[in-house]
Amino acid sequence: MGHDDALLSAPDAQTEKGLRAVKYISTRGNAPELTFAEAMLTGLARDGGLYVPKKIPTMSQDDIAALAGLPYEEIAFRVMKPFTGDCFTDEEFKGIIERAYAGFRHKARAPLVQLAPNHYLLELFQGPTLAFKDFAMQLIGQLFQFELARREERVTIVGATSGDTGSAAIEAFRGLDNVDVFILFPDGRVSDIQRKQMTTPDDSNVHALALEGDFDDCQARVKDMFNDFDFRDGVKLAGVNSINCARVLAQVVYYFSAATSLGAPHRKVSFTVPTGNFGDIFAGYIAKQMGLPIEDLVIATNQNDILHRTMETGAYTKDGVTPSISPSMDIQVSSNFERALFYAYDRDGEAVSQLMEELKDGSFSISQGAMEALREAYKSGRASEEETAATIKSEFADSGEVLCPHSAVGVKVAKENLSETPMVTLATAHPAKFPAAVEKAMGKHPALPPHMEDMMDREERVCKVPNQLALLQTLIKDRIASR
Ligand SMILES: *Cc1c(COP(=O)(O)O)cnc(C)c1O
Repeated sequence: MGHDDALLSAPDAQTEKGLRAVKYISTRGNAPELTFAEAMLTGLARDGGLYVPKKIPTMSQDDIAALAGLPYEEIAFRVMKPFTGDCFTDEEFKGIIERAYAGFRHKARAPLVQLAPNHYLLELFQGPTLAFKDFAMQLIGQLFQFELARREERVTIVGATSGDTGSAAIEAFRGLDNVDVFILFPDGRVSDIQRKQMTTPDDSNVHALALEGDFDDCQARVKDMFNDFDFRDGVKLAGVNSINCARVLAQVVYYFSAATSLGAPHRKVSFTVPTGNFGDIFAGYIAKQMGLPIEDLVIATNQNDILHRTMETGAYTKDGVTPSISPSMDIQVSSNFERALFYAYDRDGEAVSQLMEELKDGSFSISQGAMEALREAYKSGRASEEETAATIKSEFADSGEVLCPHSAVGVKVAKENLSETPMVTLATAHPAKFPAAVEKAMGKHPALPPHMEDMMDREERVCKVPNQLALLQTLIKDRIASR
């Protein structure tokens, strides 16, 4: 435990009242219990697991009903505060939330539009980088800034991205004094706009690294760095990938804002979620455990359908990544799925640990009991490349809504799961982030919002790196030293 002391020193003494601090535990059952702020700064647990709240706070039906019509920031405060224990005063936490969402273009932050009778689209792309990851990342930026300034500490953030996380992280942390950010992205496998968003900010604390490999390679190198304790402690590594518990928490909020505007808790609501790393849909699971009456939570995958296959067969089997037109979902190791397994196995860290050991050889089988729990919690579906493109075209014809390819995967799968319960499909990115695929599907070029029109002309700063741990570590140390 010794090396955690500097990073994880106790925050300034808080008031004695309410000291029943919410604790966070690892999905592998073998790491120290932490407070919210500690778990947020730590990212990956030291036993390789992911942090989850020891007990999920609940909201009464009255408290949920009272959210209807409130500003997004107020809903965010009420939904998230119980998870943060004593880490922030109400005033501090309200300030953090206000600053996090001030840069969103739409006053509603997460506006809901109607696609068809009983089918709605939750537009999560109104933030600075035009993807839903801004909801979590902008909040994390403000949380880190607040907490590190209070502790007078610095950290190094290293993240892997399939495109959208990286730009969201760079946008959230650029220019912050107490943080250096290094983002690994798969060279040549992100869209031009995604790359530009990562490589054009010129702040000296943000670094975009184009790795020779795919997203799983990027993710694996980040995990390696976290598992190298000397390096991890030497540069004070912190993670903001979707495994960060604070990111998942930020995503719980819009399930509440959307459901209450459709009549929850008096009416049930279903959600379909374009899924890759399982962070976004897992937030829906948390919302349901908190008391939000969610009927179905539907996992929508593209042709990289490991999660859909797992739901059908009970076997989680890696199968290589095939690049698709929805690249932010092109993965075969879905890191937050570990959290779903933790609950499906009745919070048995040892069982999860065992499965993750088996995965090193490429696959594991889920027990019958755990499969029943998973099928109780989630439904699933997949969309092929052709189906995704056809959905972009037909949705534009039917409702005038222009979908990004990820959102189109969601809409396709949602349509297979419509019922009397209102269905909300999460629109995870703005169509202009993926102009080639959208134009090919519907014959019309999706325009960038006005404040980004000059994006393609801005100058890039990027460093190509081989898929080698030692080299990456040296580069990171050198860059930090020369700041
Ligand atoms: C990250 C991302 C997803 C997948 O979200 P997960 O939380 O990883 O499941 C889907 N769509 C877009 C546009 C994304 O950026």
